[in-house]
Amino acid sequence: MRYLPTLSLEAAGLQSSHTPRNVRFLETAQMPGRVFVNITTHGCGSGCSYCYIDGPTQSQNQLSHAEIVSSLDWLRRHPRFQQGPSGTVISLCPDTEPFKTTTSAQRIGWILQRVLPWGNRIQIATKEQVPAEILMAIERHRAALRQVVLFTTITTISRAKSIEPHAAAPDARAKNFESCRLASVVSCLYIKPFLPATAHDYTAFAELAGKARPDAICVGVLYKSTDVGQPLTHPVHGRMQSPGLEPSCLAFAERLKRDTQVPVFHTAVCVSAWASASLAAPRIWLDYPELCVGCRDCAGEFKSENRKEQYR
Ligand code: SF4
Repeated sequence: MRYLPTLSLEAAGLQSSHTPRNVRFLETAQMPGRVFVNITTHGCGSGCSYCYIDGPTQSQNQLSHAEIVSSLDWLRRHPRFQQGPSGTVISLCPDTEPFKTTTSAQRIGWILQRVLPWGNRIQIATKEQVPAEILMAIERHRAALRQVVLFTTITTISRAKSIEPHAAAPDARAKNFESCRLASVVSCLYIKPFLPATAHDYTAFAELAGKARPDAICVGVLYKSTDVGQPLTHPVHGRMQSPGLEPSCLAFAERLKRDTQVPVFHTAVCVSAWASASLAAPRIWLDYPELCVGCRDCAGEFKSENRKEQYR
């Protein structure tokens, strides 16, 4: 089984006219699943060459406070949304840079203040330095210590200026690992997508991870456009496909694990599951076994009837 299309909200009993522009459910085959919550309609500004969102080089068109608040109210009432630590994973702001500007960070703060008390696992990925106010908001409003994972994306070290021209420099981003440690927020070095330039920088990545000590490392696949027949389809951008974990990617991950002694994963979902000692949502161990690193006993836990009921 592979990633499935986004849920039909009409099928879920909600009028499409009420559907917020910034909320998308993923993995329709089973709950609790995952949901993307965005703060923009398009644009980013980091301009990464491998990006597939609308307008990677354009300024962010940010949503208003009223629109964000009403979208979160809608999400909480939605029949596909399961509240709580084993519930739906919230991927916050996957379609733009959450900390591009003070106003984008402000929107992240609005969302965190509202959703952290629900207890759901939350993922945030950035190529900037995380603002102190955001870490303070997490500390103040979280329902559990390891509820949030802050992913700091670094795909290249030597070629960042050409591949990610308007993102923070990799050494500035790496400061997030220490900032997270001080705030007791789980951090992950997010090496995704894995590029030829990534493999070229192995020594620099090992040195960075050895010094900065992220809690986890995730080495993830590269999605490319329209290669019909590739085994993985992007969960949201259906035109993007991936051959999965190629030998060079697997070898890089194995070596990094051995050299740094930091846990290495292949999906952000599994980092969140590991951090919070919960089952992966979606069921990586079952539906995407090639991405499972066996970090915990997801298969054994799933055998309990309660879990099966929850993952319906
Ligand atoms: S056991 Fe496998 S599926 Fe479960 S969290 Fe670990 S890597 Fe993911």
